[in-house]
Amino acid sequence: MTEPGLPLTGGCACGAVRFELDALPISASWCHCTRCQRRTGTSASPQARIAPGSMRIVRGDTRTREWAPPGGFAKVFCGECGSSLWSRSPHDPDVISVRLGAFDGDPGVRPGHRQFVVYAAVWDDIPDDGLPRFPEQPPR
Ligand SMILES: [Zn+2]
Ligand SMILES: [Zn+2]
Repeated sequence: MTEPGLPLTGGCACGAVRFELDALPISASWCHCTRCQRRTGTSASPQARIAPGSMRIVRGDTRTREWAPPGGFAKVFCGECGSSLWSRSPHDPDVISVRLGAFDGDPGVRPGHRQFVVYAAVWDDIPDDGLPRFPEQPPR
C-alpha cells in the first residue's frame, strides 16, 4: 500500500458536508454491532480512528446532525442526505472514528480487526479474512 497524500478528503453523498484530515488515521476496524447495522442498513461498518485534532470540517459544519445513544459514541451524519460520516466519544471529543466510505479515496489504513461479532447479522457470513475477531469491544 502506498501512502496517500495529505490532506485526506471526504464528505457525504450530497456534498453538503466536506472534511479534511491533515494526518493519516491511526487504525481501522469493522464494527458488527446492532447500532451500526441499523444506522447503515448493512451487516457491518468499517471505520478509522483518526489522530486527535487532525480533522477539519471544510463545508457544512452546521448541516450535520447526530444521534447520541446512551452510553455510546455520538453518530454524526449529514442532515441533508443522511450519509454516515463519523462517530465521537462522549468522554473525549478528540476521539473520532470516520466511516471509511466517507473518504474520497484511499484512507491510508485498512481494517485490522472485527469487533462486536457476537451481534453479527445472521444473514451475512463474516468473511474469512484472517482479521482478529472480538466478541465485544477489543481489549485496550
Ligand atoms: Zn449530504
Ligand atoms: Zn458499531
